[in-house]
Amino acid sequence: MSLIVQKFGGTSVADCEKIVAAARKAIRAQKQGHQVVMVVSAMGKNTDVLVDLARQINDHPPAREMDMLLSTGEQVSVALMAMAIHSLGAKAVSLTGAQIGIKTDSTHTKARIISIETERVKELLDAGNIVIAAGFQGIDENLNITTLGRGGSDTTAVALAAVLDADACEIYTDVDGVYTTDPRLLAEARRVLQISYDEMLELASLGAGVMHSRSVEFAKKFGVPIHVRSSFSDITGTMIVDQPESNTRPVGGAAMTKNEARVTIEGVPDVPGISHELFHSIASKAISVDMIVQDIGADGRANISFTVPRDELEQTLDAVRSASDILKYENVRHDEEVSKISVVGLGMAEQSGVADKMFRVLADNKINIQMITTSEIKISVLVAREDAQRALAAVHSGFLLDVTPDDAPESVAAVSREREHDAAEVVSRLRTMEDLTIDSIVLDDSQSVIALRRVPDHPGIAARVFEAIAAEGILVDMIVQNVGRGDAANLSLTVPKSDSEQALVVAKRIGDELGAEEILCKADAAKLSVSGIGLRSHTGVGIRMFRALSDAGINVELINTSEVMVNVIVEGKQGQAGLDVLNKAFADVLLD
Ligand code: ASP
Ligand code: MG
Repeated sequence: MSLIVQKFGGTSVADCEKIVAAARKAIRAQKQGHQVVMVVSAMGKNTDVLVDLARQINDHPPAREMDMLLSTGEQVSVALMAMAIHSLGAKAVSLTGAQIGIKTDSTHTKARIISIETERVKELLDAGNIVIAAGFQGIDENLNITTLGRGGSDTTAVALAAVLDADACEIYTDVDGVYTTDPRLLAEARRVLQISYDEMLELASLGAGVMHSRSVEFAKKFGVPIHVRSSFSDITGTMIVDQPESNTRPVGGAAMTKNEARVTIEGVPDVPGISHELFHSIASKAISVDMIVQDIGADGRANISFTVPRDELEQTLDAVRSASDILKYENVRHDEEVSKISVVGLGMAEQSGVADKMFRVLADNKINIQMITTSEIKISVLVAREDAQRALAAVHSGFLLDVTPDDAPESVAAVSREREHDAAEVVSRLRTMEDLTIDSIVLDDSQSVIALRRVPDHPGIAARVFEAIAAEGILVDMIVQNVGRGDAANLSLTVPKSDSEQALVVAKRIGDELGAEEILCKADAAKLSVSGIGLRSHTGVGIRMFRALSDAGINVELINTSEVMVNVIVEGKQGQAGLDVLNKAFADVLLD
């Protein structure tokens, strides 16, 4: 018999009428022959109300007591849901996280799931009950109640679907699916019927509030198909699965992160250990760094830029200044009027031309790019905040996101439910269900770095360079643009070694036209990539990587990061040594 998990968020159980409507959905699914597990959030804004109550009593409430308090929200809704189902004539049993046996670590208010028992739930289902699980909560080894972090009911739902080997996990919410970009920001946003886990992870980290990031990481790790749909209608929503919506379109979504701040540290000694020191001191203040760009050093000095949420700028600058003895930088600058525009697409990994298209669209709209970072499936640019809305619109239409691709699935039923992963097998390899898992550490020493240094900054630089290189049929892999002194742009890219001479000729020609001060080629470069699941929610993967390399005396020349991968470029002859130290550094979390 098939089993489905149905999760109802706060807005979907905000009042008694809505609770009854949700109960009907579950009963209908049961009547269609499924076993049904419901996961329910606290009613409406009840969790916020509880948080507020706590603050009125104590400015710094103990985390353990916070969990004791917050978990009550879900306890109310599961009980009411069970009563609603009974009144409609079906059988239901509500269970708290502890009663199910959702074991977590003891990190109160943001606990991670260690394991989940399935026996009791299965028995209740077999006896014909709809099982109603309280979302967002668990229990630690000392029987303390824990919660999984705000929005954590999604994670409960997907984790339950994983251990119960459910056929589907339906997330009922107040939006009717996932859109190509936030429809509140752009009217042209289009609802998609399907999106891949990796794209969803990137978009979630870019602020698409549809799903809790950790739940998507779970779904990917255990191969759970997620169906995001509206609780107020019966229309099909969006399936989050392995495959993207289209195999012909390289871009599946776009996002704007509006309130960013950029910090540029100029003239840091280009020696091993600097990135580690820098990001370590920032991470120790629990600030999450976003775009990180380090360009190739000249005169033994490099510039590092990164972005942080605008409201964390002051703290970040404090952290940087307090590390000035170690960092020995020449100058620190910042700009708090910036926004990030990103495009995400699984198809980018295979198709070229995405970067030059993005840069061309922005250039045609006279939008200046301050910073660029790329990963296999994402390109992000930093622009002035006053240009951000225009940039988003330009990129969205430039990649035809408003038009349904010809090869898009016509209905979610057509989505393949084939399971790539065997959940039980994955679980057996993990110490805890939410472990960081690194699935590969790879050395690629077939690339060269080309750098254009100190190009006078104006719109269209990146477009010119990439079009010229693409015209030669040269495939660019990593792209990094940083802000140099006096706002000049430093642009670095990697190309296959066999094309490096040709690429250098092109770079020299365009560089001269643009007034670049210097054009370099480091013919012998090595790219080291660490990829896995949980890179975002387990901060510190980059830090672990930088530390391992710096301890081995290996200098990092370029960096780029995404939700699923961190890449660095080091000198070619250090590639193998770098690979060895990374394998050691991640041995405890490396799968296979
Ligand atoms: N009730 C919790 C919250 O508001 C968990 C959830 O809704 O997912 O964060
Ligand atoms: Mg919620």
